[in-house]
Amino acid sequence: MKNLKSFNTFGIDCQAREFVEFNSENDFEKIDKVYSESSKLYVLGGGSNTVFLSDSFEGSIIKVENTGKTIISEEVDSVAIEVSAGENWADFVRWTCQQGYSGLENLAAIPGQVGASPVQNIGAYGMQVADRILWVEVHNMKTSDNYRIMNNDCEFAYRYSRWKTSHKEELIYKVVFLLDKQFQANLDYAAIKTYVEQNSIRDITPLKMCDIVTEIRNSKLPDPKVLGNAGSFFKNPEISEEQFLEIEKQYPQIVSFSQENTRKLSAAWLIEQCGFKGEKYDSVGMHAKQALVMVNYGGATGKDVLNLANLVKEKVKEKFDVSLEIEAHLVQ
Ligand SMILES: Cc1cc2nc3c(=O)[nH]c(=O)nc-3n(C[C@H](O)[C@H](O)[C@H](O)COP(=O)(O)OP(=O)(O)OC[C@H]3O[C@@H](n4cnc5c(N)ncnc54)[C@H](O)[C@@H]3O)c2cc1C
Repeated sequence: MKNLKSFNTFGIDCQAREFVEFNSENDFEKIDKVYSESSKLYVLGGGSNTVFLSDSFEGSIIKVENTGKTIISEEVDSVAIEVSAGENWADFVRWTCQQGYSGLENLAAIPGQVGASPVQNIGAYGMQVADRILWVEVHNMKTSDNYRIMNNDCEFAYRYSRWKTSHKEELIYKVVFLLDKQFQANLDYAAIKTYVEQNSIRDITPLKMCDIVTEIRNSKLPDPKVLGNAGSFFKNPEISEEQFLEIEKQYPQIVSFSQENTRKLSAAWLIEQCGFKGEKYDSVGMHAKQALVMVNYGGATGKDVLNLANLVKEKVKEKFDVSLEIEAHLVQ
């Protein structure tokens, strides 16, 4: 048995029946055996998008721990870097910025590991990782094969990829990124633009942008080491333009982002309008500074999490006729 409390940022106290580390490609055989013998298996990275729903996990956890990064090709204006799945994402992004490479700087300070970054196509401040992934190297634990999934076959979409809901037999062991040597600051996101203007920042470098994003995030998001959480608990819902115009008639201040044919609504705004922001429900609540983040005030159980998640979904549906979808991985 292994206690997983320190292996998930929400801080759920859960005992796993079996806990096996994947440290390098030499461990493929070991994990294939675990896969074939286990009735239930979960691949765990940094546990920052994972919520265990029960106090025991009656199966096997494969904890990804392989490390290393290599520049596999370099052109005049770009560089391709192969990174092991167990590398810390935030450290890797900072390292790329220190080298002067650009393309990931707006994704600075996101918790978790490199191997999980394609799983939900992590995104923040106007960037998504899918735009920088060339391919993903996977090991199929069922067939023991290793193969490469090229970007086009990853099925990337908003907070989604082929691994989000299926292909669970594929362990991602390396990700290859294509980064630029030239830097063009991405200031599309209002919070970054405002920060740059207010602080009269000029001559932005990738590393400067990494610092700016880190500072903005630290001022808004609860630190999981202080207050357990899994980041955004719900996805921003996408609705039709017609439905948006109907809601806007009643709620002119509604926060939304234009998409090609649809509207993406701010789930945080919807949740706040339903009165959840900063409210405590036993050991859980929606954070006082960011209503989209469910937090653990201490001793939260999976049941507490589900109860609040269902209540939030119900109230948002009732008030706006909009369905919220949970972003975090809920593990039974
Ligand atoms: C404070 C905070 C802020 C956050 N901000 C953001 C944000 O701005 N944008 C954003 O997109 N996300 C954000 N998140 C969510 C989270 O950081 C990301 O989803 C991250 O990529 C999860 O990485 P992880 O290693 O912790 O994944 P885990 O929680 O360990 O796993 C997540 C999923 O990936 C799978 N997985 C993990 N590693 C592998 C692998 N090697 N092979 C196959 N499958 C694997 C797991 O089985 C699971 O399905 C935030 C979370 C927190 C706590």
